[in-house]
Amino acid sequence: MATDLTPNTSVLAQQQLYGHKKITFCNDESTGLKAIIAIHDTTLGPALGGTRMWTYASEGEALEDALRLSRGMTYKAAITGLNLGGGKGVIIGDSRKDKTEALMRSYGRYIDNQNGEFITAEEMGTNTKDMEYIRMETKHVTGVPESMGGAGNPAPFTAQGVYLGIKASVKEVFGTDTLAGRTVVVQGIGSVGEELVALLRRENAEVLVSDINAERLTYVAKKYGAKPIAADKIFSVVADVYAPCAMGATVNSNTIAKMNFSIIAGSANNQLRDETLDGKLLLEKGILFAPDYLINAGGLIACYSELTGFGKKRAIQLTENIYDATRNVIKLSKTEKIPTNVAADQIAEKRIADLKRIK
Ligand code: NAD
Repeated sequence: MATDLTPNTSVLAQQQLYGHKKITFCNDESTGLKAIIAIHDTTLGPALGGTRMWTYASEGEALEDALRLSRGMTYKAAITGLNLGGGKGVIIGDSRKDKTEALMRSYGRYIDNQNGEFITAEEMGTNTKDMEYIRMETKHVTGVPESMGGAGNPAPFTAQGVYLGIKASVKEVFGTDTLAGRTVVVQGIGSVGEELVALLRRENAEVLVSDINAERLTYVAKKYGAKPIAADKIFSVVADVYAPCAMGATVNSNTIAKMNFSIIAGSANNQLRDETLDGKLLLEKGILFAPDYLINAGGLIACYSELTGFGKKRAIQLTENIYDATRNVIKLSKTEKIPTNVAADQIAEKRIADLKRIK
């Protein structure tokens, strides 16, 4: 998955570099909608990916996010054994101020125009209510409320998978997967982060939490007996596990140099800023990285189960596989002496290549 992009690379060059199948720019002046739908690959099935709403500094930054996130979804579906391709939507705007029913429904129409090649779900800055609005315009949406026949919020499934990824990694480093007494620092305690904190505290892990939203930080810390830390102090902390559950690219040459963690395992997508360099740096420093797209696949599994009518029980079973899948990636990384992110990529790419051959 290594790439070489600069912010000035043209859109078509970026599309070619990442190997994207289709990029749609959505611009609806009447509702203020500005969004991008990126479909990376549909070899294994329709491209499923959440829609993120974020205050991007520029349209170029939004495009880069859409391209990286959608490609990650292709790998996530492939390594998880799902019959789905990879896609992602990003809406440019402040989810607290700019979101309206009309904007979401307008976005839903753009999704409908993809003729089933793109199916969305909630992501950072969007929620089940938004999915309900999108559902009014297209059937190509999952994670709609349970009252509308959907599986509801995928975050608890995502958190469960991350929790199992943490346990599998702890087993590798400390010889046992029990979390009691282990220190875990959770960065970002939104939908996934809060669920993860609950699971960790249930097992008596010592949990430190950080969030740029001060109100949320106080609330979650108090509710679960976690220790709040300032957002800018995260890399001064000494902990067994660092669980990034906010934005991507928090693992990079600057932060790796400061890290006092044994394991990195969280829900954020695209945690490594530079997949080639940062994976190697972590391997050299002896920090075990649980590949993000592997351990955060629980939400995708829940959406897939909703789409295929498998139901919640099957979604839980499939999410439980994340523990063994993480162990397998670590094993391959050790035998081949390659970074864990490269090992995960190899497993995902092999499945896509194998199935392309039988098509
Ligand atoms: P969310 O919007 O509910 O929560 C994100 C939290 O991170 C918010 O509380 C926000 O204030 C906080 N935050 C933002 N920047 C921060 C920073 N610099 N330091 C500390 N906190 C910060 O989002 P979510 O649904 O919980 O998703 C979290 C991450 O997990 C995202 O990267 C998302 O792409 C990824 N993810 C989510 C799911 C899911 O099921 N929701 C599935 C797979 C991956």
